[in-house]
Amino acid sequence: MSFFSKIRKAFKRLFGTERFLCDTCKYDYGDVCRNPERPNATECKDYKSK
Ligand code: SF4
Repeated sequence: MSFFSKIRKAFKRLFGTERFLCDTCKYDYGDVCRNPERPNATECKDYKSK
């Protein structure tokens, strides 16, 4: 993650506008995804858009 990405993420957290990847991920149903970050992942190598 680049320096600017970290800054942007910190601001999103600070102002409560951070979105979770799982909300738009095609693997966010049933037992398909067992990543411990689910359902609040903000970074995920397995993310796939719906
Ligand atoms: S693959 Fe990653 S982004 Fe998708 S549901 Fe699982 S944890 Fe969330």
